[in-house]
Order: sequence, then C-alpha cells, then structure tokens
Amino acid sequence: MRALLLDGHVSFRADYPRPTPSGDDVLVRVSMAGVCETDLQLVRGYMGYSGILGHEFVGVAESGPYAGRRVVGEINCACGTCALCSRGLATHCANRTVIGILRHDGAFADYLVVPQRNLHLVPDSVPDEIAVFTEPVAAAFQVLAQVAVNAADRVIVLGDGRLGNLCAQVLAGVTSHLLVVGKHREKLSLLEARGIRTALLDGAPADRSADIVVDCTGSETGLPTALTLVRPRGTIVLKTTVAGTQTLAWAPFVIDEITLVGSRCGPFGRALLALDRREVDVRPLIQERLPLERGIEALELATQRLKVLLEVSRG
Ligand SMILES: [Zn+2]
Ligand SMILES: [Zn+2]
Repeated sequence: MRALLLDGHVSFRADYPRPTPSGDDVLVRVSMAGVCETDLQLVRGYMGYSGILGHEFVGVAESGPYAGRRVVGEINCACGTCALCSRGLATHCANRTVIGILRHDGAFADYLVVPQRNLHLVPDSVPDEIAVFTEPVAAAFQVLAQVAVNAADRVIVLGDGRLGNLCAQVLAGVTSHLLVVGKHREKLSLLEARGIRTALLDGAPADRSADIVVDCTGSETGLPTALTLVRPRGTIVLKTTVAGTQTLAWAPFVIDEITLVGSRCGPFGRALLALDRREVDVRPLIQERLPLERGIEALELATQRLKVLLEVSRG
C-alpha cells in the first residue's frame, strides 16, 4: 500500500506492507487525513517516533461490527487492564500506543489498524472533509472537560493556527468574553467573521486580566506569553507540545498562584455532535487538499497554511 513514512526523515512509499489486524483490531481504509502541528513536531524529533505519520482521519471500516461504514478513530490505544485503565484513565494507559505518534502506524496511508473500541460512526450528514476534523475538535472540547468555564470568565486563546481556531470556536459557545491573540491578520479574520474578538500579539491587553488563557501557539514562547496575560490565581491551559526542552522561570506560578493545566485528547462523541450541528465551522480552515502521493509537500505547506488535507481514497 501507499504510505508516508517517518524514519529519521519523511519518505513516500508505494510498497509498504498492508497491516493485518489481530484480536479486536479493525482494518480501516483511509478516505481522508489531516496534517496537524503534532505531525510537524514529530518530523522534528518529538517523541522519537518512527512509523507511518497521521492521526486525524476518516475512513471506512473493512471488518468488525462497523464493516462498510464510515468511521473516525480515537488515537490512544489502551490495554484495558493496567492500573490507569482500571481507574478510567485509558488515554493515559501505561501500555498505550498512539496512532501515528507512539508505536502505532498512522493514517497517512491506504490502510491503518484501529481497535474497535476506538471507532466512532460518522453521521451521514457529516461529509469526510468535516469528519476528518473530529480528533482536533475533540482536543478543543477537552478544555471544557478539564476546566469549568463560566459565561462571565474572561478567556484568551493564544494562537491563531489550527488548534487555536478550534479552541476559540468551542470556547465562544461558553463565554462571550473571549479574545483570540495571534500573529496573523488573515487567520484572525476567520474568527472575526464568526463574531469572535481578536487582537494582534502587540495589541494584547497588558492589564493581566484574563481568568483563563489557553496556549495553542505550538511555540515555546506560548507559556511565557500566557503568564503575561493571566490574572493572579488564574488558569493557563497548555495545549502546546514542543520537541526538546523549554526553560522558564517558575517563580511567577508560585507568586501569582497560577494553575497550569496540561490538556491533550478529548471526547469524540461531543466533537461529532458539534460538527454535525455546525457549532464549530471547520470549512474555512481547509486551505489545501493534496493526494497522498504529495504528502511530503503537504507537510511543508502545513507549516504555513491552516488545515492541509490528504485525500487518500475516493469512494
Ligand atoms: Zn493532531
Ligand atoms: Zn492500560
């Protein structure tokens, strides 16, 4: 099968062996996949991953109870038996593999293998180019699953990229005191068009008045910047993962009693509902659609553009 392989560097392979599912695993034929900041970080060495890239996908199940139907898949493949799984923390399973990120081949390929329990059926009303956003939209909803956000809370989303846009749209459903701070006027304008207030970084409020700051910058500057925006006893939600080591003066967290919340994968059911109801509009984010063969180019484009989609199979 065709596959985009990371093994020190990225290469396109036309002759990669098709995976064979075992146990409760299901073979999924990939229809479409999305390039995400994490993929770009993996290419730079984050997680030391080697294997097929790609964790945002929609496809058709080839086997199992959903055979022949369109599916999306949660990316954490848990053992179901370790202490963390037993405590309901399956996304933190000590023995987990993560699709396209940790010891599990990903979706930038004709086929991938996904545990049946990770799969969710896609409603007929949600086309592939919308459904492919389920994973990142779920990650945006995870902020609400972890932090109680009230209608009166002043929330700043830091970053106007893919995840920043989605987090902003999700938070806009909860608070009207939302501000997105970014560096790109054209990316911010997409949010302005949805009635979301935005500011360029140098125009961000200097009064440290935000109750909650969500760092979606994907940059090591995100957390220090968030510290300049959050109020004492406020909360910083960290969505950014960066390859390598970051240095930071930690004293401000103590002095100002800041709560720092790391935030990763989220609820697929809620994300599919939001996409179906158009609570979150992902279409404006789609800036490129390339065939799988042009995957290397897609990864390069994704450093500049918003969402780059890989069209893997048709019909
Ligand atoms: Zn992702
Ligand atoms: Zn486990």
